[in-house]
Amino acid sequence: MNTHVVIVGYGMAGARLAEEIRARDPDAAAVRITIIGAERHLAYNRVLLPHIVEGELSRADAALHGAGWARENRVELLLGTTVRAVDRAGNRVLLDDGRTVGYDRLVLATGSTPWLPPIEGLRDGAALAEGVAVLHDLDDCPRIAAVAERGEPVAVLGGGVLGLESASALAERGTQVTVVHRSDRLMDRQLDGPAGAVLADALTDAGVGVLLGCQVRRYRPGTGLELANGTVVPARLVVVATGVRPAVSLAAAAGIAVEHGVVVDDLLRTDDPAVHAIGDCAQHDGVSSGLVGPAWEQASVLADLLTGADPAARYRGSAPVTALKARGIDLVALGETHTEPSDPVAEVLRLADPARRRYVKLVVRNERVTGAIMIGFPAGAATVAQLYGTPNAAPAEPLDLLAGATAPASGPVLHRQASSVICRCNTVTKGELVTAWQAGARSVDALREATRAGSGCGGCRDTVCALADALARAEPAAAAATADWAEIEGVAA
Ligand SMILES: Cc1cc2nc3c(=O)[nH]c(=O)nc-3n(C[C@H](O)[C@H](O)[C@H](O)COP(=O)(O)OP(=O)(O)OC[C@H]3O[C@@H](n4cnc5c(N)ncnc54)[C@H](O)[C@@H]3O)c2cc1C
Repeated sequence: MNTHVVIVGYGMAGARLAEEIRARDPDAAAVRITIIGAERHLAYNRVLLPHIVEGELSRADAALHGAGWARENRVELLLGTTVRAVDRAGNRVLLDDGRTVGYDRLVLATGSTPWLPPIEGLRDGAALAEGVAVLHDLDDCPRIAAVAERGEPVAVLGGGVLGLESASALAERGTQVTVVHRSDRLMDRQLDGPAGAVLADALTDAGVGVLLGCQVRRYRPGTGLELANGTVVPARLVVVATGVRPAVSLAAAAGIAVEHGVVVDDLLRTDDPAVHAIGDCAQHDGVSSGLVGPAWEQASVLADLLTGADPAARYRGSAPVTALKARGIDLVALGETHTEPSDPVAEVLRLADPARRRYVKLVVRNERVTGAIMIGFPAGAATVAQLYGTPNAAPAEPLDLLAGATAPASGPVLHRQASSVICRCNTVTKGELVTAWQAGARSVDALREATRAGSGCGGCRDTVCALADALARAEPAAAAATADWAEIEGVAA
C-alpha cells in the first residue's frame, strides 16, 4: 500500500517536494500526493517577483508549473484552499471549506509571512492600510506596479535584500523611490560598513534615494513617511520590507514544537514523527534560512525519505549565499561577513575601490573560505561562492582569488572542474551542464529545462549563458580534432 503524503503549501518548497517525489516515484507506486495551497495560482518562482514589478518578466515567465502538471504527475492539487487546523490524533487536516483530508505523512511547507513594525498608519485593523503594500505574493505585483505606472513617489521601508530589490525594480521603471532604513548600513545583516557604503553609492547612481539611520514616526496616507526628525519622505505608496517570520501558527495550534520556526531534525521531522516541515517555515539546527536553496535541498532529502529511495538521506544544513538582484549591481555575500582583520585566527582580506563601486572582503579560516562580500566582481563572486565551505579549497595566496589568477575554479567557465557547482540553488555542476549539452540541450532555456540550472535565484544565469556560448564555440573545433569531451567537461583538468 502506498503512503499518502499531504503537503500544506504550494510555494517553492511544497512544489519542489512534489517534483522530487515524482522524480523518484513516477508511477505513484510508493507515494500518493495531495497538495493544498492557499494561493489560487499554480506554483511560481517567488524570487522573481521584483522582476515582475520591474516589468522585465511577465507572470507567465515566473511559472514553475503549467496547467497540466498536476494531472500529468498524479498529484491531487487543491488551489485557493487553506488548511485551518491539523487534527494529529485523527491524522487529518481541516480545510477552510469544511472538508477534511486524511494523511499518513503531513508536510508543512507554509513559508513565511511579512513582518510589519509597529508604526502608526501601516495597518488598518488586521489588514494593510491604504497606500501600504508588501512584496510577497504574485498578487502584490500589480498593485505596486500600478503606482509606479502613475509616476507617483514610493518609499520602501527596510534596506535589506528584499527592500533593495523592490526599490531597484521601481527605479528601473522610472519611479521616484526612496529607501528608508533604520540602521546606518544597508543590508546590515550581510554587509560590513565599507560594503554598505559602496552599495548605497551604487544604488544612488541607479536612481534610488537612500536614507539611513531613520526612525519612522508614522505613515500619513497620500503624503508620506514622517520621520522622527520631522522630515517627510514623499510617498503615495509605502512598500514595507522589514523582514519575514516563519509561518508557524498552524503547527503551533496543533501542539507541534515551534521556536522561531517549526523545529525539525535531520530527517526534517517535527516532534510528531508523522509531521515534517521544510522551507521557510522550518527551523533546522536553530536556523530558518528564508532562502530558496536550502528549501530545495530539504525537499530533495525529504523525497528520498518519503519514497524510500534513500532511507539514509539526512539534511545537515546548507551554506547559503545571498545575492542581490538589482540591475547593474553584482553583490554576493556569504558566511561570516562581519569578521574583522583583528580576529586572531581568521585571515581577512579587503580591497576597496569605492569610486568604481567595487568592494571585496574575503575571510579564510583553516584553509577554508568561510565568508565573503563581493560587490562589482561577478566572476570572482562565482569562484568564491564555489569555494565556500569546501575544505582545503582556498588557494595558498588568497589575493590570487580576488585577482582571478591561480584560483582552482577561476578563469573561463569552460576550464572549470566538472565537479564545480554552477547553480547553487539546484546544486548543478558544470559536468552535468556539459552532459545535458551533449544530450541536445543547446540553449540556456534547454539547459535549464534539462538540469534546472538557473531556475532558482537566477544568480548563475550569466555563467550558464557563458558556458553555453563557450560550448557552442568549442564544439566544431573539438569535433574537427576528434574531440575529447572529457577535456571539455573538465574531468581531466
Ligand atoms: C520578493 C522576494 C524575493 C526573494 N528573493 C530571493 C532570492 O533572491 N534568493 C533566495 O534564495 N530567496 C529569495 N526569496 C525567498 C524565497 O522566495 C523563499 O525562501 C521561498 O519561497 C521559500 O519557499 P516556501 O515554499 O518555504 O515558502 P513560499 O514560497 O512562501 O510558499 C509557502 C506557500 O504556503 C502557502 N500557505 C501558507 N499557509 C497555508 C495554509 N495554512 N494552507 C495552505 N497553504 C498555505 C502560502 O500561501 C504560500 O503559497 C525571496 C522572497 C521574496 C518574497
